[in-house]
Amino acid sequence: MIEITILGSGTGVPYLPRNSSGYCININGEPLLFDMGAGIVRRLLEAKIDYKTVNHLFISHRHPDHTSDLIPLFFAMNYTPGLKRKDPFHLYGPAGFPDIVRKLMDIYPWMVPKHFNLEMKEMDETEISGKDWKIHSKPVVHGDVLAVSYRLEAEGKTIVYSGDSAYCDSLIENAKNADILIIECSFPSRLELKGVHMNTREVAEVARKAEAKKLILTHLYPFCDDEPILEEIRENFKGETQKGKDLMKIVLP
Ligand SMILES: [Zn+2]
Ligand SMILES: [Zn+2]
Repeated sequence: MIEITILGSGTGVPYLPRNSSGYCININGEPLLFDMGAGIVRRLLEAKIDYKTVNHLFISHRHPDHTSDLIPLFFAMNYTPGLKRKDPFHLYGPAGFPDIVRKLMDIYPWMVPKHFNLEMKEMDETEISGKDWKIHSKPVVHGDVLAVSYRLEAEGKTIVYSGDSAYCDSLIENAKNADILIIECSFPSRLELKGVHMNTREVAEVARKAEAKKLILTHLYPFCDDEPILEEIRENFKGETQKGKDLMKIVLP
């Protein structure tokens, strides 16, 4: 069974209904986390996902709205009274990301794992396999920052997370025939930020070209909640489309 939990469907703009980025995809009891924006550690508690049992975290890129809760997460794994974490923790991110984590650990030595091994891996065009799952990362375009999208295959289903991405062919390729595409939709069609983020028109084009079956829109700036973004997507993409919502769960049989 696969259960997707949206932990944060928002951005770096503080907004109570939408936390910064974070997602959990649970495969037969094994939680895989994607991104760790500010507030995600608390959202894990709200979603009743035990941070002590997480062994895999996939980071899309280094922007703070996708990484800043790494600090409280590692602090908690070290200093929760009674917890002696033994399982290795696997942290994945784009090229250069392990260096960023090591720099954070210089500033916050309390992040350095006390009882467990931290295994970091740089992701480019990379494939990783777990017990019941396989993940393929692919670089995407996101301004001047290295960023990747993640394609997860498990139980005969494909779930793709765009991370932050501009419209680009590599995202379309990685999202090909996805059953569920969790895709950033930063702007309504009247706004755009070419080379950095997507608006509804660009999201619909990626979805249409990738022939994705179902879209979950995420990375929604607060003003997206006052705009007809679903209608705009539906003009150009006929598959099922839903606006992501914090703490929303999607279960795939
Ligand atoms: Zn972001
Ligand atoms: Zn970003």
